[in-house]
Amino acid sequence: MRICILGSGSSGNATLVVSGETRVLIDCGLSARETARRMQSVGEDATRLDAIVVTHEHGDHARGLAMLSKTLKVPVYIATPTLSACGLGEKVRDIRRGEVITSSQDFEIGALRFHPFPIPHDAADPMAFTVEAAGAKMGIAVDLGHINSLAAERFRGSDVLIIEANYEIEMLRACSFYPWALKQRIMGRQGHTSNDEMARYLLEDFDGKAGHVVLAHLSRNTNHPDLARLAAVQAIEARSPLFSANAEKRVRVARYDGPSDWIEL
Ligand SMILES: [Zn+2]
Ligand SMILES: [Zn+2]
Repeated sequence: MRICILGSGSSGNATLVVSGETRVLIDCGLSARETARRMQSVGEDATRLDAIVVTHEHGDHARGLAMLSKTLKVPVYIATPTLSACGLGEKVRDIRRGEVITSSQDFEIGALRFHPFPIPHDAADPMAFTVEAAGAKMGIAVDLGHINSLAAERFRGSDVLIIEANYEIEMLRACSFYPWALKQRIMGRQGHTSNDEMARYLLEDFDGKAGHVVLAHLSRNTNHPDLARLAAVQAIEARSPLFSANAEKRVRVARYDGPSDWIEL
């Protein structure tokens, strides 16, 4: 399995997962053109995508959906409440449906086996996944108010974890241009994951297996990559020596403005 995060954050989320000849995009929050451009920059051809899987309807995860599906004729794997909530109007005709998915039913796309699970987030039927292929396992959950026990349990045994580190609490509190209601939403149990919550997960619930821990969906206004990384590294280093080897090397931060390096398993 090979994984490349094409972009992450409120300006657009898209993660490319490849196994053998199977290529799947998890979320398509970048424009169709930008998705194709970033794929090309990492040596991939958007016309060879086999499917797009959508976690939930928020614009930063679904913005490119109609255009990508229409122009590339890529089947979209999406829950029915999520598609309704996308508010596509007439454009819904441009969606080429793949399998109808739900947050409780496993499904396969080519060589990839998807195991979805529901997450606490303020959307119609938000879901996260573990994905398995060729003996490797990835866990990805990037919009969730907190990393609950179900997510922690599903993540066990993952070789790669892509988890949210959206905000630093003091930076969010101090942010002068976010209205109070928005701050409440972000901080809520169905909102987004803070650096503290991400670190708590790594300290208390992480099983220590993943050689790659990718921090994702960082806010540009209320977080800083160095702060998120430090919180994660310190949490892993606080674990027993068995867990904490190479903590620095294992943690990386996904970018909003360009693709990550490939993670190869
Ligand atoms: Zn969201
Ligand atoms: Zn999001």
